[in-house]
Amino acid sequence: MTAIVIAGAQWGDEGKGKIVDLLTLRADLVVRYAGGPNAGHTLVVGNEKVVVRLVPSGILRPASTCVMAQGMVVDLRVLCEEIDALEARGVKVAGRLVLSDRAHAILPYHLEVDARREGAATDAARIGTTKKGIGPCYEDKAARRGIRLGDLVHREHARERIEAACEAWSPVLRALGGQTPSAGAILEALQPHVDRLAPLLADTAKVVDDAIRGGKNVLLEGAQGTLLDVDHGTYPFVTSSSATAGGACTGAGVGPTRIDGVIGLVKAYTTRVGGGPFPTELSDAVGEHLRKVGGEFGSVTGRPRRTGWLDLPALRFAARVNGMTSIALTKMDVMTGLERLEVCVAYETKAGRTEEFPLDDLAQSKPIFRAMKPWSASIDHARKLEDLPTEAREYVTMIEEALGIPASLVSVGPERDATIARGDLFAPR
Ligand code: GDP
Repeated sequence: MTAIVIAGAQWGDEGKGKIVDLLTLRADLVVRYAGGPNAGHTLVVGNEKVVVRLVPSGILRPASTCVMAQGMVVDLRVLCEEIDALEARGVKVAGRLVLSDRAHAILPYHLEVDARREGAATDAARIGTTKKGIGPCYEDKAARRGIRLGDLVHREHARERIEAACEAWSPVLRALGGQTPSAGAILEALQPHVDRLAPLLADTAKVVDDAIRGGKNVLLEGAQGTLLDVDHGTYPFVTSSSATAGGACTGAGVGPTRIDGVIGLVKAYTTRVGGGPFPTELSDAVGEHLRKVGGEFGSVTGRPRRTGWLDLPALRFAARVNGMTSIALTKMDVMTGLERLEVCVAYETKAGRTEEFPLDDLAQSKPIFRAMKPWSASIDHARKLEDLPTEAREYVTMIEEALGIPASLVSVGPERDATIARGDLFAPR
């Protein structure tokens, strides 16, 4: 049996879609353990790009079963649209998607609160959420007034719970210029989606455990990245869920002793969407190159992403809190042809120089950079490490040495085969 967790090492958007897609070649079960419809995975199938937001990307592999586990928050309307879009492309979803009856439902008042709050916030206070209602939905979960997908099947019970939630949100909505939502209207609009999705509901923690016990390959994927994790990220500019590998245990209902390895997704440079400190940010032509060549625009919102150099202290921190056993290094090809190449190796903080990531003091800390040799020859055709120019190989080795773990995959282009694979990730350790 092998259960592997894949977690973003930076601020998300590390190119998870492609790597998960590759790993699902060998996965019997692909489980998403956290987040909601904000995480757009861009998959390239043939010549077509498909963006999935809720459904695990394993859905494109006919042999994989996909699980949306209880750590997720689900907008039923978005999920139905996504299933329609997949089926229109000939992807069979029925019978291959299992939905946790304990996952929480994103309801219209969550969306409204999210949008009105972001609209009302000052620039400095704006989190830069995707306004998909995810934050307010997780708030309800923690406040114990959330509506779980299993609740929705029982109409009277659902009505009572939604009424209580509407009452709780009412003063907030009115203060933001909105109105008290109507539980009846919400339920009415939701019913067709509930009817359609009810047959997919199950105790997914049991499904995952059965698969692991049955000797299947299980891939557990998070959403966003370590620095957006609600506990370990750059709080308060974080997401509302556990993006780190530990979230796989609570979010999917798997004990830590059942996990065999953690792959950290590392983009060859850094990007960040939304507000918050970003010490290695580049606001020059290099930053523009990374944005343009790397296509760094949000896959859900289209927002341009902030871009910057790789941050080794941040990666070491991510390796530690996720217990990474290897990394998948993505978008190496985007670094080709840069006029200069630098990496952040340490920080100058109030207390002096440190190689630790100054998580709670980022705004006051200055990154210390080391210059590396850039490369100019295209690397898109590299399929072995030896195919890379010396400077690119040095870049990979430098990261491996800084983190003390190997790069098990190096991605050199968006296509499935534009990949340097080293070793079998599902091989038992
Ligand atoms: P994700 O949500 O983590 O998958 O990240 P994004 O939404 O940012 O998707 C990554 C984008 O980069 C997609 O358009 C992919 O096709 C593309 N991509 C993934 N890996 C690579 C790579 O190694 N090189 C290049 N040039 N593009 C890549």
